[in-house]
Amino acid sequence: MKKLFVLLFGLLLIIYACTKDGDDTINIGPDIITIDSLKINNNVLVIGIDGLRSDVMQEEFSPFMYNLSQSKNVYFNDTHIVEEYTWSGPNWSSILTGVHFDKHNVTDNSFDNDNYSTYPPFFHYIERADSSINTVSLVNWTPINQHTLLNYTDFVPLESMNDLEIFENVENILLNKNPMDGDVIFLQFDELDGAGHSYGFSASSEEYTNTLTVIDTYVENLFNIIEGKRSEGEDWLYIIVSDHGGEGTSHSDTQHPDVNQTIFFTQHPSLQLQANCCYVSSQVDIAPTVLGFLGISSSNFNFNKDGFSIIVE
Ligand SMILES: [Zn+2]
Repeated sequence: MKKLFVLLFGLLLIIYACTKDGDDTINIGPDIITIDSLKINNNVLVIGIDGLRSDVMQEEFSPFMYNLSQSKNVYFNDTHIVEEYTWSGPNWSSILTGVHFDKHNVTDNSFDNDNYSTYPPFFHYIERADSSINTVSLVNWTPINQHTLLNYTDFVPLESMNDLEIFENVENILLNKNPMDGDVIFLQFDELDGAGHSYGFSASSEEYTNTLTVIDTYVENLFNIIEGKRSEGEDWLYIIVSDHGGEGTSHSDTQHPDVNQTIFFTQHPSLQLQANCCYVSSQVDIAPTVLGFLGISSSNFNFNKDGFSIIVE
């Protein structure tokens, strides 16, 4: 019966895709979306930290994240591979779309000539699968919402917010359902990148490490809220990812290991995740991980995607 329901729902979505949006996917035809009814009520929090250089994520500067990296039930990679173009634009685009820059076509921070209509962010597939899912994006670096997420997300404010305001707004959504009860939430902190550009991306830069320590407390507080929701029966996936590292006061040296690799966490209390030892993640793995956890399968996304889910089925 469940299979019949999924099949019928899939057929309805094909019809919907043909009438609503067929031109967007001319390369590969109408999208076929199926939903796993056992997973569709799952929830996801993706925490983006701009410009986190891997080796600075130490116990001294970010005790919560350090301890999380040592915990069970976590996939953690501190050699997480960033895009060949080490700007923020291409990397956030790859994180959100699950495809490399040669497909989404964002090669710098201008976002000119993006190809999101063919390679949309994961929020597109979530809204297409079930528009009652509340999708949220809160970002300090506003081009992400302006260029990448505006057309695909329920709550996607365009005004600039600092990192504290991002934290407080997400806290308000999670605890008070204000202004909405967020089901799948993306957020981006940007002040670490700012400290890196001004004072150096380095463990010896006090401004950089102090900023990381503050962000670590936000990340810890959000984790504790998620743990509270889990204890009330909600099933949440918790992700932390950065877009690039840094060296000196920039992140333009595309060959430098402190620039072209960063950190990535996926945490869940019971699911089997890829092994830290043996799987090297990259930016394109986040979108398939999110969609897989929500039980959403799109024929277009599966055909186009460059990454893999961190969750071992
Ligand atoms: Zn960045």
